[in-house]
Amino acid sequence: MNLTVDDALRERLARIRALGAARIRPVGLEADRAGAPVPPEHPFFAELVKLGLGRTRWLGGEEPESAGAGDPAPPEPGTGPSLTGVLLSEEMAYWDRGVAVAFPGPGLGEPPILAMGTPEQKQRFLGPFRTPDRPRWGSFAMTEPGAGSDVAAIRTACRRDGDHWLLDGDKSFAANASRADWIVVFATSDPALGRAGHRAFVVERGTPGLGDFRIERKMGLKAYESTSFTLRGCRVPAANLLGGEERQAPRAGFKGAMQSFNATRPMIGAMAVGIGRAALDEALAFARAHDRLGDPRVRDRLERVQRKLQAARLLCWRAAWLADRRRPNVLEASMAKAVAPTAAFEAAALGMELLGEEGGRGDHLIEKLFRDVKAMDIVEGTGQIQRVLMARQLVGLPRG
Ligand SMILES: Cc1cc2nc3c(=O)[nH]c(=O)nc-3n(C[C@H](O)[C@H](O)[C@H](O)COP(=O)(O)OP(=O)(O)OC[C@H]3O[C@@H](n4cnc5c(N)ncnc54)[C@H](O)[C@@H]3O)c2cc1C
Repeated sequence: MNLTVDDALRERLARIRALGAARIRPVGLEADRAGAPVPPEHPFFAELVKLGLGRTRWLGGEEPESAGAGDPAPPEPGTGPSLTGVLLSEEMAYWDRGVAVAFPGPGLGEPPILAMGTPEQKQRFLGPFRTPDRPRWGSFAMTEPGAGSDVAAIRTACRRDGDHWLLDGDKSFAANASRADWIVVFATSDPALGRAGHRAFVVERGTPGLGDFRIERKMGLKAYESTSFTLRGCRVPAANLLGGEERQAPRAGFKGAMQSFNATRPMIGAMAVGIGRAALDEALAFARAHDRLGDPRVRDRLERVQRKLQAARLLCWRAAWLADRRRPNVLEASMAKAVAPTAAFEAAALGMELLGEEGGRGDHLIEKLFRDVKAMDIVEGTGQIQRVLMARQLVGLPRG
């Protein structure tokens, strides 16, 4: 595994570090204290667009049709798009994971469009994110009030009606949904077909029948909106069915979602490492300021957390490195997603214990990180689900 970081990426990381200290962390703290997401018209988002952030990873061409597991590695050594994403995600989350998700960009909606979209759909939906004229967001809506871990249980219905599809259902917890130009919505043509009935649609803002946006209350990560919404007889043009009718092989929608997870799980793991590193740095600073570093028990626990975070980080890098080489990474993506949030949680919990009473007052950064970190074990498949998947793979059972 070659993990060489080239000068251009090193420079991008340094820019995020500078932006993180000056803007990302203060904006995140402000949102946390206000208890509300950073509004879309906040000048910070326009600043980010001017800095060239909030763009798509799509380069404007077509991914090779055959690209997939087993294809030859792309020629460049070191950092491909997945590893780049993992490194940048960790750095942004170090400063504030909530703000990192609030950043303009196609967000979690991008991987399914890249994985399943036709060239025309990539152009229509990702094209405006190549050099955006204003802050733009995309969103991803799989979860429903009755379907979280078990994505096969989604009940949002889709029915063909001439040149359109009619969508009906309820979605919950979709990041940035109310401000998004479009939302990738997963629906089923027939719940009895299970995963074979899944279809993915790009539902554009203002589509009749899309509405009732409601921002959920969250214990942490308050800087970005997690939003529920409804689809009521929502008329989506047939051209917005991802991959088009002819490319919708049985289970294509489900497989597309799973492929997206293999790309995004290492990134979620890396974000957890970022939060964990921030908690460790704060815990070290607090222990030093309060003369606690002379105690070998404190040093031992700090070192243990550092070791776990480093190990988790390597798992994330490996999963992303494999993805860049189009090699199977299902197991490694699950490992990264299972291990990193646990290590990060331990870092934040240790920080809280060291803080003692000060942590209980609720105005220390570690207390915020402690509330923020929990979601990392939940999103993109809970830690428990990853462990179920890994155990099935270990003993040779299908994924289920
Ligand atoms: C901050 C945040 C942001 C999110 N963003 C998005 C988003 O942008 N888009 C989106 O679509 N969704 C999003 N989600 C939803 C998220 O994907 C779901 O919360 C997650 O899939 C878990 O589903 P659930 O909450 O319904 O829990 P459940 O599936 O009800 O699980 C509850 C508990 O049971 C365990 N469990 C469930 N099934 C099994 C099993 N078979 N074996 C062992 N244990 C099991 C789980 O691990 C969990 O501990 C977000 C959630 C949060 C908290």
